Amino acid sequence: MKPFESLHKQALKKLHSEKNKPLFEKILALVEPHADDIVMYFYRELLSHEKAVRFLNHELVKNRLRITLAKWLCTSLQYQETDKDLDKNYLYQREIGKIHARIDLPMSLVDYGMGLLKLQVALVLKASNLERDELADAIILSGQILDLALSVIDESYEHDLMINEKNAESLKMHVASQNLAFDYSKLCTSLSEWMRNLLLLIAKNKYDSCMQGAIRYSNFGLWVAHKAHLFLAGKKELPLLVLQLNNIDEDMRLLSGYLLEENTNLIKETLSRLNGHISTTIWILNCLANDTIEEENGRDPLTHLFNRRYLETVMRHETRYSLENGILFGCVMIDIDFFKNINDTYGHDNGDRVLLQLAETLTQQVRAGDFVFRLGGEEFLIILADVQIGAIKTIAEKIRAEVEKFEFRLSNNISLAVTISVGTAIHDGHPDFKNTIKLADEALYKAKKSGRNKVIAAKQYANV
Ligand code: GH3
Ligand code: MG
Ligand code: MG
Repeated sequence: MKPFESLHKQALKKLHSEKNKPLFEKILALVEPHADDIVMYFYRELLSHEKAVRFLNHELVKNRLRITLAKWLCTSLQYQETDKDLDKNYLYQREIGKIHARIDLPMSLVDYGMGLLKLQVALVLKASNLERDELADAIILSGQILDLALSVIDESYEHDLMINEKNAESLKMHVASQNLAFDYSKLCTSLSEWMRNLLLLIAKNKYDSCMQGAIRYSNFGLWVAHKAHLFLAGKKELPLLVLQLNNIDEDMRLLSGYLLEENTNLIKETLSRLNGHISTTIWILNCLANDTIEEENGRDPLTHLFNRRYLETVMRHETRYSLENGILFGCVMIDIDFFKNINDTYGHDNGDRVLLQLAETLTQQVRAGDFVFRLGGEEFLIILADVQIGAIKTIAEKIRAEVEKFEFRLSNNISLAVTISVGTAIHDGHPDFKNTIKLADEALYKAKKSGRNKVIAAKQYANV
């Protein structure tokens, strides 16, 4: 559960009480007809602030924001009858927070905008013919509803930002240290040594020294405390490792008591449990080392390209960089043609060979500052950093032609020609990167529909 989830849900439930239902309905009936005017006012007001212009000026944002904001306002002011409706409302507000975080909209701007909306709602209510007491109640309730919505948006925004920062940090660590497999095996060795040392000290009756060797200060304990969250953010192994560390800690605490009491049976029992924890921990570390080192670090194990995990981090960075420096970046979405046939005819292993060789070909075609992702299956995405508007299709066409003439080597010396379909889009100033990816995706779909083995560029908005 998110830190404030229950608090926010309780507060929502309280506001949407049976008693408040008539007032909710009155507020909505009064505000709804003015929703467009309120949003227009909000928009005009924010556009007079230089800081906000960058986020609002895009044509698409301009057109969409009016509709979404009016919808948001009315949805927020709507009475929610059941718990299910309340949950939906809560998730809706969280989604808004996530979108704001994705486009890097400063929260101070969101807060400011909310102030404008609250004021306008209050003015609409004031201009109605509500009785004095009811008017006061309506203004208070609408204020509470919008404040609570803002609070949920805020929380989700921070949560999202935190996850992204963790990923960004994790990416940095990955780039700096490619040697994780080595780290894991070192950790295993250090754990075995720690246990051996403990047994040795007990055998020699050196109980004091025994207790000084707390697991928290061992290489493993320090790694879990300081580094694991960077490499394993969001992965199931992280809580498992923390649990093992706590188990070992707890048993060491018990052990110290049993050693003082010289309770041989319990000492034996605890040592055997400790041994079990150490084995489990080594097993987890080995799994990490053997199977998913690449995956854990945002790399696809087959092609060694970046996987989806860092897409958001990279795209956010490129979007910010592009908006700040007035340069463009391009998205090139690639899908192998008739890949299923390759698998069916030559087997899955050969399919994998094609994926690997395509990944290498793509990587060779791009510059050092560009990114090549394997999004999944036989789909790839190239982010062309800092490109001229006219260049993106030319680069994509060169990549397509290069793949077409490349001789893919399969097992038994078979060689095969493979083609790709490509959709391109340029970052056109829209602050939400998902929009650019969507455009490239749609262009790719058109390339497939219109015969494959071709590049189609998305039709883009004018303000590039
Ligand atoms: P289209 O030209 O329309 O893209 O046709 P397609 O056959 O390439 O596309 P489709 O989506 O029908 O099939 C994609 C296939 O890719 C299906 C799936 O089994 C295969 N695939 C996905 N991931 C892998 C992988 O890691 N290795 C191998 N060998 N095949 C994979
Ligand atoms: Mg596909
Ligand atoms: Mg395909």
